[in-house]
Amino acid sequence: MTYLVLENYIKCKHTDCVEVCPVDCFKEGPNFLVIDPDGCIDCAVCVPECPADAIVAGHEVTDSYWTDLNARLAVSWPVITKKKAPLPEAEEFKAIKDKRHLLEE
Ligand code: SF4
Repeated sequence: MTYLVLENYIKCKHTDCVEVCPVDCFKEGPNFLVIDPDGCIDCAVCVPECPADAIVAGHEVTDSYWTDLNARLAVSWPVITKKKAPLPEAEEFKAIKDKRHLLEE
């Protein structure tokens, strides 16, 4: 199993999660992060760190789109281990649920 980053996180990038991951498996894109399924050890310490409640256990996710997306983008995006400032629009977009189309790869 792995944990996954879901739609709530698009255009947020709070990045609190990356500092607690013991195996550095968060990968960074322009306006989203993903979790590398090959590195995640299912420890769940990142879950309460996310202000957008966007990190979920893979077995709780019924839409395989997010499983496939995390795995695919984790291959090409670089590792992020240090917290950085969220995107300027993060607060505005945190409450928006339907924003899959805004994901920049
Ligand atoms: Fe990292 Fe643990 Fe979160 Fe997986 S569950 S991404 S290993 S902090």
